Amino acid sequence: MEKFQQYIGGVFSDGSAAFESRDPATGRVWAMMPEARDQDVNAAVDAAAAAFASEEWGGTTASGRGKLLLRLADLIAENAGRLAEFETRDTGKIIRETSAQVAYVAEYYRYYAGLADKIEGAHLPIDKPDMEVWLRREPVGVVAAIVPWNSQLFLAAVKVGPALAAGCTVVLKASEDGPAPLLEFARIFDQAGFPKGVLNVITGFGQDCGAVLTSHPGVDHIAFTGGPETARHIVRNSAENLASTSLELGGKSPFIVFDDADIESAVNAQVSGIFAATGQSCVAGSRLIVSNKIKDVFLARLKEKAEAAIIGAPDDMATEIGPLCTKGQLEVATDLVAASKTAGARIVTGGSPLDREGTYFPPTIIDCSDAPDAPCLTTEFFGPVLSVLSFDTEAEALEIANDTAFGLASGVFTKDLTRAHRMVRGLRAGIVWVNTYRAVSPIAPFGGSGLSGHGREGGLQAALDYTKTKAVWLRTSDDPIPDPFVMR
Ligand code: NAD
Repeated sequence: MEKFQQYIGGVFSDGSAAFESRDPATGRVWAMMPEARDQDVNAAVDAAAAAFASEEWGGTTASGRGKLLLRLADLIAENAGRLAEFETRDTGKIIRETSAQVAYVAEYYRYYAGLADKIEGAHLPIDKPDMEVWLRREPVGVVAAIVPWNSQLFLAAVKVGPALAAGCTVVLKASEDGPAPLLEFARIFDQAGFPKGVLNVITGFGQDCGAVLTSHPGVDHIAFTGGPETARHIVRNSAENLASTSLELGGKSPFIVFDDADIESAVNAQVSGIFAATGQSCVAGSRLIVSNKIKDVFLARLKEKAEAAIIGAPDDMATEIGPLCTKGQLEVATDLVAASKTAGARIVTGGSPLDREGTYFPPTIIDCSDAPDAPCLTTEFFGPVLSVLSFDTEAEALEIANDTAFGLASGVFTKDLTRAHRMVRGLRAGIVWVNTYRAVSPIAPFGGSGLSGHGREGGLQAALDYTKTKAVWLRTSDDPIPDPFVMR
């Protein structure tokens, strides 16, 4: 059986306890994971704080940080296959997806390597004749980065990359579900040449590890990806240390198809939007909003594709739909589909777990036209489950799309350019994909609003978000300071 270790202060060690990790494809235990509790969390934060205060890291120039990040990017690219295998084994995410995604993760580190020496301060045209005022951009300090189990290497990269580029140090908490890829990533990071303690990787459970980390007085910023309920805990925890937060939460993202859309292209994008990653994606286009004029044709083609998807072992390159990560996820999907059916929704295809070993749920389409209160329309959950609504007018499409407490992603399929612009303007979401879906890049910001959280990952702003400004005032006059009782 494999055994993983945590990484604190540049040293690999066992955790205070250990827990079993199951292979979602078989349900069998395949590895033991180090469980971090109070003392491990404290050690990790102390190591990150010491590295932050050290001359070794603090004295590294921005270009030097960039070079280290470039080296890390190269190492990730060299080891992408191995990292992808660990992610697939521990989370059940299909190898077709993990191998492409992990290779691309290297590009995120390259992007932030390039940005490291472009995080500039500013000189201010101050309104006083004898003063020079400028802004320094300094790293915020120790960052607690917390990720969920899906796409862990990617979700870690969008935090660790900009944080290290800015000069911060990081305690990265892998999810307790499928932590293997990040614990393996720590081994690769260790070879890149960063000073000890710049990155620390631990894993553990919400209360004993996550809560201790996010309320720790040594933490200055919390970068969290996960569900809204956990985010509420984290914001409450941050009342202890008053750390700033960025929250990347889930979505109930609308995918709108107008009657002039290229049907084949829209169907493929919708398949990618909801069935890729077996529906375990925060940007999943989980609410199809389709024009009544093409609804039947569109659903027929979608059903055909859903039923043709190859369900199989996640480590088989041919597999398109793998198992869900945990038994708990399978139960959530099963219960929500059943409750939606009871609420009057019609199952077009799929609908219940597959009778086989592992946590398999088939691609499922639910027509909610006669069930406006179906819980699948409003509850965010991870699974290959698409809820369908339809519309007659553009205004109606927009109203349905925005009828959600979330605001992460959205998709619009139309050939009408002016309509596309109106939809872009009207959609309440952090991302709008027009005639495409689920495209990402290190260059483009990613994030949402409302129950989808706040803050952006990716892009230049993300690196700036790991800095704070220091305003420096320098008096240039040799004359004595006049009246000390008057503010100048
Ligand atoms: P989750 O919120 O249950 O857990 C996420 C992480 O938070 C885990 O590492 C967990 O151990 C930790 N945690 C749990 N309780 C904690 C506490 N009290 N204090 C501190 N940390 C705590 O999420 P999940 O079920 O693992 O993942 C699914 C969720 O993540 C979905 O809602 C999904 O939409 C969201 N997600 C969002 C994005 C995005 O970028 N917006 C990306 C992927 C996933």
